[in-house]
Amino acid sequence: MDTENAAAYSAATRVVTAGRPARTPGAPVGPGIELSSTYVAGAGPTYGRFGNRTWSSFEQVLGDLEGGRALAFSSGMAAISACILLTPPGGMVVVPQHVYNGTTTLLDQLAAEGRLSVRRVDPTDTAATVAALDGADTIWLESPTNPMLEVCDLPTVLAAARDREVLSIVDNTFNTPLLARPLEVGADLVVHSVTKYLSGHSDVVLGAVVTTDDALHERLRGHRTLRGAIPGPHGTWLALRGMRTLHLRMERACATAAELVSRLTAHGAVSQVRYPGFGAIICLEPKGGRAAAERLERDVRLWLPATSLGGVESSLERRRRHAGEPASVPEALVRLSVGIEDVEDLWADLAAALG
Ligand SMILES: *Cc1c(COP(=O)(O)O)cnc(C)c1O
Repeated sequence: MDTENAAAYSAATRVVTAGRPARTPGAPVGPGIELSSTYVAGAGPTYGRFGNRTWSSFEQVLGDLEGGRALAFSSGMAAISACILLTPPGGMVVVPQHVYNGTTTLLDQLAAEGRLSVRRVDPTDTAATVAALDGADTIWLESPTNPMLEVCDLPTVLAAARDREVLSIVDNTFNTPLLARPLEVGADLVVHSVTKYLSGHSDVVLGAVVTTDDALHERLRGHRTLRGAIPGPHGTWLALRGMRTLHLRMERACATAAELVSRLTAHGAVSQVRYPGFGAIICLEPKGGRAAAERLERDVRLWLPATSLGGVESSLERRRRHAGEPASVPEALVRLSVGIEDVEDLWADLAAALG
C-alpha cells in the first residue's frame, strides 16, 4: 500500500489494504504466520513474548481503522484487565450498570479484594454519568451496552472525563471502528473483543487495545509483555484474515438487523424489541416470559443457540441463563446476533420458532 496516500482512502479500502507487506517484486500479498520464539540477535525483534510480525500486521490494520496505535492481546478479557489495572490502587472506576458480564465480574472481584472501588451509573442519564466522574480515576463505557443496548452520549461524557483527568476507556466491540471511532471523540483507550466482529468467523479468541497516547501504549505493552497476555500467531493471523471482509459483513448484518427489527416489532408474539438504531445486535422479549424465551432457543433451526456474537452465522441466547447476568436484565430477554445469511431464511426460522 502507498502509505503516503493512505489517509485519502476510505475505511472500506483501508480494511483491505492496510498491514500488507511492501509491494516489491516477489513479495507475498499478505503477511505470513510468524512462528518463532526467539530471533537472531543484533537488530529487530528479540524474543517472541516481546513482539511478533504477525501481531504487527494485525495491529496496523486495527490501529489504522480506529485512528490510533493498537496492541493485540490474548483475549478481550486480557485487554480489558490490562486497561482496568491502569487505575491507581484504591482508585474509583465509574461503569454502567450493564456492561459485558466479564467486565462486571472482574470489577466486582477487584473491589472485593480492595484494589479499587466501583460506582455504577445509568449511561443514558448523561448528567448523572458526568456527576459520577467527580473523584473518579477511570470511566468504562460501552455504547450500546451489553445486553440492554443502552446508548451513551459519548462526546459529552468523554469531554467531561478529559476535563477532570479521568481515564476513559470504551469497549467498542459491538460497533467496530466502521460504526464508531471513540478515540476521535475523546476516549483515551478503545478495547475490542476481536473474537467477535473483527475476526468474524467464530474461530478465534483475541483482544486488542488502541490508543493515541504513547505513554499509555507503552504501559499497556509492558503489561502484555510482563504478564504474558500475548496472542498466538495463528489466531492473530486468522483475525487479520477475517478483518479483510469486515465492511461487507457489517453492511449485510446491519441491513438485515434493521429489517428484522421492523418485522419483530410488528410480530404478535413479541412484547419488546430493543435496538439502538445501528449495529447488528437486537434484543427481544417474547410474550410468555422465560418459558417462551427458552422455547425460542430450543425451536430455532437456522439461528444457532449459542453465546458470543459477531460471527457470520446468526446466533441467539437468553442472557439470564448465565448466573453472572444482573437481575435487572429481564428473564425473557433474548439477544440476537445477526449474521450474513439470507434475510428471508432468517426471518422464516425466527417467525416459526416464535410461533
Ligand atoms: C465477548 C466480549 C468481551 C470479552 O472478550 P473475550 O474475547 O471473550 O475475552 C468483552 N466485551 C464485549 C462487549 C464482549 O462482547
